[in-house]
Amino acid sequence: MAVSNSNSLKKIKYVIPAVILCAVFAVFFVFLGNKEKTASFFAMDTYCSAKIKGKNSSECLKQIEAAVTDLENIISRHKKSSDFYAINRDGKGTLDKKQSAWLNAMLSVSKNSGGAFDFTLGELSDLWGFGDEPKVPDDEDIKAILSRTGYQKISLTETGISFPEGVSVDMGAVGKGIALDEIKALLDENKVSCGVISIGGSILLYGSDTLTVGITDPAGKSQYIGILTPGNGCVSTSGSYERFFEENGKKYHHILNPETGYPADSGLVSVTVYSENGLLSDALSTACFVLGKEKGTALLKEYGCGGIFVETDGGVTVTDDLAGKFQLTDTSYTMR
Ligand code: AMP
Ligand code: MG
Repeated sequence: MAVSNSNSLKKIKYVIPAVILCAVFAVFFVFLGNKEKTASFFAMDTYCSAKIKGKNSSECLKQIEAAVTDLENIISRHKKSSDFYAINRDGKGTLDKKQSAWLNAMLSVSKNSGGAFDFTLGELSDLWGFGDEPKVPDDEDIKAILSRTGYQKISLTETGISFPEGVSVDMGAVGKGIALDEIKALLDENKVSCGVISIGGSILLYGSDTLTVGITDPAGKSQYIGILTPGNGCVSTSGSYERFFEENGKKYHHILNPETGYPADSGLVSVTVYSENGLLSDALSTACFVLGKEKGTALLKEYGCGGIFVETDGGVTVTDDLAGKFQLTDTSYTMR
């Protein structure tokens, strides 16, 4: 017994330091592997950035950039090789499962917003020239386009889409949100522990309830008007400050009221929407910008989403869902 005891003691003497050493190495490698990694790139006509923590973070960052570029090559209205370019050219096309789900969700937002969200206005956006050479178009030309557009003209089957000539499907109001949904699936697959991904005005918060988003100052005086801590999910902002031009001292922005064909004028300068789903957060922020605060709040309630409305007079309204999760930091704005 005594011998065996001394042998055990010897074993313990060597085993314990070895175990400690292994543990230290394990912690070291896990720490190294989980180091925060960042990337930034330009895609979908906007600046994108990603900050993630996880084992495969370097590889995952490459996958994120590739996913956004791939998506752009599918949904772009202007790239001649894209699926939606062909669909718009032919007035019809087949849709894969994902594309069909996007279009169905978009149609639902169009219907539920009473047409404030209308993804058939591609030709009208082109007429305004947002992107390259913006100008106020002739009123007659606006009316002519409106007479042949409208989400009601879209026919969807399980595997296809069709619409009459003059309609042009524009994914501009949902593309960034869809990108966030694709990226979220990648973060899940790669078992990323934590991440913040920004595609222009749409941001994915992943893996922690304490991640924050700064809400951009629409007037551009300060960087942010306040800080939102909504939990995991997607935050999309639509604002008149994002893309606009001036003609004869008047500002014209890129979010169009489908009833008038002119930039939406509902008393808002920005709307931020929080949803677990990226496409919804993006589509609803555009819809709410057109609808204005009251109708927009009602629409968000239907979808169980939260929002922050910033009015032209500097008033800020936070919906019940986000109450207590937003902190105003810029005192030139007022909470309503
Ligand atoms: P967002 O910045 O997400 O609000 O999207 C704005 C983009 O959506 C514009 O640049 C247009 O391509 C498109 N768009 C403009 N007005 C509307 C509208 N009423 N409904 C849907 N898409 C729109
Ligand atoms: Mg949008």
